[in-house]
Amino acid sequence: MSRFWSSLIHDLEPYVPGEQPTVPDLVKLNTNESPFGPSPRALEAIRAAATDDLRLYPDPGATALRDTLAAYHEVTAEQVFVGNGSDEVLAHSFAALLKHEAPLLFPDITYSFYPVWCRLFGIAYETVPLDDAMRVRVSDYRRPAGAVILANPNAPTGIALSRARVADLLRDHSGQPVVIDEAYVDFGGETVIPLVDSHPNLLVVRTMSKSRALAGLRVGYAIGDASLIEALNRVKDSFNSYPLGRSAHSGAIASVEDEAYFQQSRARVIELRERLNQGLLRLGFEVLPSAANFVFARHPGHGGAALAAALREHAVLVRHFAKPRISDYLRISVGTEARIARLLSVLANIL
Ligand code: PMP
Repeated sequence: MSRFWSSLIHDLEPYVPGEQPTVPDLVKLNTNESPFGPSPRALEAIRAAATDDLRLYPDPGATALRDTLAAYHEVTAEQVFVGNGSDEVLAHSFAALLKHEAPLLFPDITYSFYPVWCRLFGIAYETVPLDDAMRVRVSDYRRPAGAVILANPNAPTGIALSRARVADLLRDHSGQPVVIDEAYVDFGGETVIPLVDSHPNLLVVRTMSKSRALAGLRVGYAIGDASLIEALNRVKDSFNSYPLGRSAHSGAIASVEDEAYFQQSRARVIELRERLNQGLLRLGFEVLPSAANFVFARHPGHGGAALAAALREHAVLVRHFAKPRISDYLRISVGTEARIARLLSVLANIL
């Protein structure tokens, strides 16, 4: 604490990202990164962007990337916003769309950055408990609200909601903005981008960090009605007009254009998730049904904190949240075959 801090800073409780240690032979399954690299075409485009042109500012509207994403998702460029990772896109949507007199609703167990943005922007919020099976029950959201945000699939549970249930939520809240954070949708969820044209209150947020293996490049985007996108642009141009550098812009375009690589690597992650699932079940874990690139599991005989600490001693990193309802669980990212095998053998020894 310092007397130089603003009063805003004193009251913040910042988000704590997963660790990024540099330990040799570390099995890193704690931040839901891709086990495989990005598309080789994306890497080539990033290298090709390293020219004298870097002295010039990038296109503030990221027009070429927005055109590429619009064609890919069959929407117009005016329905697309891009930013420096989906965390930035989400932060802008909290400021631009989710601050109202009535509270913003989101689940009690979800992406722990949501309450952090509420505090930063002074947004009133109310959490809605997941049901006993750790699922979002859409009917529980039928209450007065200024807006709603859901991660779908949810994090850290990995459980997905069908498009029909999200459509119910959109109908129940037709007078409020609804943001659906689809960070993990490519691993088995059902996207609601096709609902954007008929639902002017829907904003879908996506990231290139997970299924496109570009967490280090920092590219996220949102798709929604042009008036919602305009609201995001008003925040962006009041904050940072150039969120994407030239290399991020070029790399992201090349990644979207490499559909074959994308389909192959996400199918492989889904296959490996099933292998991880089976291995954990064999060790006596209860595993929630995941549609993401991670699983959320608990062991009836061992606490989550103790297991995470024991794994850490064997250079295996997973994520544990010391929070009510989920303190017995571990969130384990899908790794390569070798890393899954190492995790399972270390776990077998610990147990
Ligand atoms: N949404 C959810 C649900 C996440 O788990 C994450 C990853 N921490 C993000 C958004 C942000 O990802 P990024 O900023 O890398 O796009």
